[in-house]
Amino acid sequence: MKERPSFPARVKGLGEQPKPRPAVAGIEQPQGIGLDSGAVRQRMVEKLAALGIRDAGVLAAMASVERHRFVDSALANQGYEDTSLPIGLGQTISKPSVVARMAELLRNGSAAKMGRVLEIGTGCGYQAAVLSQLASEVYSIERLRGLHDKARANLRTLFLPNVHLLFGDGMLGFPTGAPYAGIIAAAGGEAIPPAWIEQLALGGRLVAPVSGTASGQASAEQVLMVVDKTAQGLRHTVLEAVHFVPLKSGFV
Ligand code: SAH
Repeated sequence: MKERPSFPARVKGLGEQPKPRPAVAGIEQPQGIGLDSGAVRQRMVEKLAALGIRDAGVLAAMASVERHRFVDSALANQGYEDTSLPIGLGQTISKPSVVARMAELLRNGSAAKMGRVLEIGTGCGYQAAVLSQLASEVYSIERLRGLHDKARANLRTLFLPNVHLLFGDGMLGFPTGAPYAGIIAAAGGEAIPPAWIEQLALGGRLVAPVSGTASGQASAEQVLMVVDKTAQGLRHTVLEAVHFVPLKSGFV
């Protein structure tokens, strides 16, 4: 069941190509982002810091992963705006500020690299790439085959051997990689699936959007929920309102 990203041997000649290197083999550098996307990304990181992201490891990861390569080339020039963007099949890549916020919550103030992390909702693979900088292993599961394949293509040229892409129903977690130091969901349901709690290590932390009624809020609004698994039991913390795509069961 464990599928590792199948990084093919470099296509002859591609590895030696002069800059700009292609986002995905065969696709040219998108127009509109300029040759130095690093400067644009640095501005995005400054904005993230201004929004309150403090974790230097998270900011460094956000500075290093080229978000514009994970979206359609027609949207690449919006790649560093703080907005979610369509990635196909009715799904979206999360806003950079939300990715950074959730990663910061997951790390919980520790500067050390996390152990194994499970991500539910690979989408285009962007958040998995960010997490790969912060955790020893990232298991990322997606229920839509088309997006699972897209993430695989997006990540191929990045050569991230610690990212493991899985196709299946993330509501069941991924027991083979458990226990996880961190679990992060990019899709929100009405409750936290029991499998996630089971697969969370003692001392581990889960960050997920949950619809408000389940989180004890009066409204049905989605909120960010943090669950800490401690020796004394589970500790739930309800945070700000968020807008994630729905968590759905099964896979297609
Ligand atoms: N982290 C992603 C965000 C993708 S949007 C990125 O960086 O692009 C959330 C994703 O969750 C969607 O692709 C959706 O198909 C997926 N999803 C929803 N329910 C799921 C489930 N039960 N298991 C796995 N993936 C699921």
